[in-house]
Amino acid sequence: MSAARTRRQVDVDALVEGVLAGRRAAVSRSITLVESSRPDHRTAARDLLARLTPHAGGSVRVGISGVPGVGKSTFIESLGMMLVEQGKQVGVLAVDPSSVRTGGSVLGDKTRMPRLSASPGAYIRPSPSAGTLGGVARATTQAMLILEAAGYDVVLVETVGVGQSEVTVSGMVDSFLFLTLARTGDQLQGIKKGILEIVDVVAVNKADDQGGHATGEADARVAARELAGAMRMVQGHGEWAPPVVTASGLTNVGVDDVWQRIIDHRDHLGEAGLARKRADQQLDFTWALVRDELAERLRRSPGVAAIRDQVRNDVLAGEIAAPEAADRILAAYDERRDGTA
Ligand code: GDP
Repeated sequence: MSAARTRRQVDVDALVEGVLAGRRAAVSRSITLVESSRPDHRTAARDLLARLTPHAGGSVRVGISGVPGVGKSTFIESLGMMLVEQGKQVGVLAVDPSSVRTGGSVLGDKTRMPRLSASPGAYIRPSPSAGTLGGVARATTQAMLILEAAGYDVVLVETVGVGQSEVTVSGMVDSFLFLTLARTGDQLQGIKKGILEIVDVVAVNKADDQGGHATGEADARVAARELAGAMRMVQGHGEWAPPVVTASGLTNVGVDDVWQRIIDHRDHLGEAGLARKRADQQLDFTWALVRDELAERLRRSPGVAAIRDQVRNDVLAGEIAAPEAADRILAAYDERRDGTA
């Protein structure tokens, strides 16, 4: 602890003031703080977030997903510029499972959105490249809160169509947009199961004649109709039938229509529905945080550390079965918990 004390203290007051004044430097420093796993930073981050929370909640939160190459960054750049030109402030965050694996992130990279990142009305932040998907998701949710407190009107959360990341992102946004390419028949099978259940708006992208897997508007429209049919069969959406539209992020055609559908979805939820959705998300998030923290405590537990190698050897040698090994680890954790927590 004494080492932690000699570290420079975080000036939470200055951060709160800077964020509420909408200063980018304060926003950046605050997001860096909530991404940090240092124990003293986590305490400061908690304080910061508690003080910003009453000022948050005012943005339109949109998740955007699709496989690499579908045109996410091009689309987000078009959509973001359109919103900025309407006078809105736009934040772009990313949840990138590849950053968890490789430590580098392919999403939310400023070089992928040159115009938007140069715009004073936009703030782009790449995915934090450390920790678990849960940790990245936590940092992203908190970054969203910071952007809201700083007065951002729209927050776009980008994710790539891999693993659990869409489900994770759909748990932190009001509306979820899925970008896809024109597919028909069998190709529709290639769309990951589960995605269609959680999307609110679908856009068949690259509906233009500009090359690079472009399909042309007419073909894109046919594909959109087929996809809309397929979606009706998997619907878990109650009364909201997710619209399937065509767009081109490159030529900027249909991007405004996609945005209108997102607003329609929001209107459909209504004020009370949106409040309920967000409250449910908070509850889920609460338990996700508890699970994260428990896993962290387990990793740090001296009781567990003391027997970890022995249990490992016993399991690998086939001397004890997994359930017994798990019981031993949990018992070691429980025994030392009171004295060390
Ligand atoms: P991401 O990996 O999903 O972010 O995709 P990018 O936005 O980086 O786009 C991948 C490639 O597709 C690039 O070569 C883009 O120029 C191209 N592209 C993106 N959007 C469109 C579009 O609307 N139409 C066409 N024809 N090409 C596009």
